[in-house]
Amino acid sequence: QIRLKNVSKRFDNEYVVNNMNLTVKDGSFTVLVGPSGCGKSTTLRMIAGLEQVSEGEIWVDDECVNDVSPGKRDVAMVFQNYALYPTMTVKGNIEFGLTNRKVPKRERESLINDIAAIVGLENHLYKKPQTLSGGQRQRVALARAMVKKPKVFILDEPLSNLDAKLRSQMRTELIQLHQRLGTTFIYVTHDQVEAMSMGDEIVLLNKGEIQQNDSPMNVYHYPVNVFSAEFIGTPA
Ligand code: ATP
Ligand code: MG
Repeated sequence: QIRLKNVSKRFDNEYVVNNMNLTVKDGSFTVLVGPSGCGKSTTLRMIAGLEQVSEGEIWVDDECVNDVSPGKRDVAMVFQNYALYPTMTVKGNIEFGLTNRKVPKRERESLINDIAAIVGLENHLYKKPQTLSGGQRQRVALARAMVKKPKVFILDEPLSNLDAKLRSQMRTELIQLHQRLGTTFIYVTHDQVEAMSMGDEIVLLNKGEIQQNDSPMNVYHYPVNVFSAEFIGTPA
C-alpha cells in the first residue's frame, strides 16, 4: 500500500497540497477528482517521485520513499499528452518503457507482443505515432507503462484528449485492464462522472486538501460537506 503522511507541497510560498493524509490500498482503483488547479497532478507527481514533497512522508509498504528516485519506484505513469517519441515506431515506444534493459531479446519480443495484443495494437507495431488515432496513441502510452510490470499505475487524465464516444469506450477498457492486471491504479480526472463510474475509492480534492475519501456510493449518498455535495451533484 501507499501512504501519504501529512504531505504538503509548496511552490514559492503557496501551498498547492496541504497536509494530505491518504492510504491507497493494494489493488484498488483509486480516483483523485477535483476542479482544475486543486493539486491532483502535483499529488501524482510526488507519488511517482517526479516532484519532491515540501513536508511529510510518502511510504510504500514499510519503506519511506521520499529519497527514492522515480526510476527506482515501482510505479509507471501515463500522462495526459501521452508523451510518445515521434521518431520511434509503436514497438520502439513500448520497448522504451522497459527499464530493465537486460531482458533477453526473445523474451522482450514476446512481452511486447503480448501487451500489444492486450491493448489491441498488434497490427500497428511498425507505425509511427503521428499516423495513429487518439485512442491508439493512448493505448501505446498504456502499453509503454505496462511493459514495466509496475506495482502501481498512475494515470493523469489519460482520456481527456479523446472524443466522448472513445472516452467512454476507453473507460470500460481501463476498468477491464485493472481487473485483469490486479495492480493498483491511481487515476486522476476532473470529471465527476468518470470518477464515480471508474473508481472503487474516491478522493475528492479542493484547494490542495482532501474533502472526502470514501467509496463512490458513500460519496454520493453521504457527502460530508457542501463542496462534496455540489461537486458530485447529489440531489438536494
Ligand atoms: P488540472 O485539472 O488543471 O490539471 P491539477 O489539479 O492537476 O489541475 P496541479 O497541476 O497539481 O493541478 O496544480 C496545482 C497548483 O499548483 C496550480 O495552482 C498550479 O499553478 C501550481 N503549480 C503546479 N506546478 C507548479 C510549478 N512547477 N511551479 C509553480 N506552481 C505550480
Ligand atoms: Mg492536472
